[in-house]
Amino acid sequence: MTERIDGHTLLIGLMAYPIRHSMSPTMHNNAFAKLGLNYAYLAFEVINDTLPSAIESIRTLDMRGSNISMPNKQKVIPLLDKLDPAAEMVGAVNTIVNDDGVLTGYTTDGIGFMKSLDDEGINIRGHKMTLAGAGGAGTAIAVQAALDSVSEMSIFNIHDASWKQAEKNVALINEKTDCKATLHDLEDRDDFKKEIQSSFIYADSTGVGMKPLENETLVDDPTWFRKDLVVFDTVYAPRETKLMKVAKSAGVEHVFNGLGMMLEQGAAAFKLWTGEDMPVDYIRQILF
Ligand code: NAD
Repeated sequence: MTERIDGHTLLIGLMAYPIRHSMSPTMHNNAFAKLGLNYAYLAFEVINDTLPSAIESIRTLDMRGSNISMPNKQKVIPLLDKLDPAAEMVGAVNTIVNDDGVLTGYTTDGIGFMKSLDDEGINIRGHKMTLAGAGGAGTAIAVQAALDSVSEMSIFNIHDASWKQAEKNVALINEKTDCKATLHDLEDRDDFKKEIQSSFIYADSTGVGMKPLENETLVDDPTWFRKDLVVFDTVYAPRETKLMKVAKSAGVEHVFNGLGMMLEQGAAAFKLWTGEDMPVDYIRQILF
């Protein structure tokens, strides 16, 4: 590290709370070191109240940019100069790039989802997806998948605060993309089963399966899953969720957790800041 940091080192931040547990500093700093790039990536505990001054410091300190995570992904938008079209559609930002004081907001979570499937040799473009959840991750996945030509999408949500977001996502996807999206009630089990069974991929972005719900899953009946269905859980702690266990017990071959998505959302941000490809295989060995 001391060999790398000098008077020219450019800073990249991560502004969120809580954030000390994040894998992102390890991911990016190892990638900078591997490629000999003169950047340093640091996590900062930033809440909504301190966000405006933290964002202003990107300009003041001429930082190259920052990642943004909860609780700041939506609140940051009015503080930026420009938004990438996908970030505008998603209504959230997880990456900021500073070009000579002009701050542009991007969202890379959805790119991470699509790229992690590409990495596994799975192409969901032109196919139907059933997606549970329409929160931050679910919205990013839905928008990017629709922009990337997934042909049909059935979005399921419970009637909580995210239902309105789910309605917005479906309307936006139908208006702005060629994907045909529909909204469904997660409580309607027959409908949920039918939509999964007619899909190429089932993705769960609800967080059911991680603490404190680590022994729960929205689908506990293996007969819902065809062997050739793709099953994707955005959770990566634990590495194997209850949903993944049920899918594997049904003989499903392609079952994924969210680690690949996490890696590839980082790689997409890395490319925006540095113009370079993250050495993802090397980073995978360090992180996983
Ligand atoms: P969020 O709070 O914004 O959204 C949660 C969604 O789950 C909402 O649609 C909500 O209605 C639904 N939900 C919540 N509890 C539910 C329940 N008991 N039953 C059914 N639906 C329920 O959260 P988020 O930021 O979208 O994160 C969701 C999950 O995705 C988390 O597990 C998070 O760790 C994961 N995630 C992974 C990555 C990655 O890179 N792998 C990136 C972002 C988020």
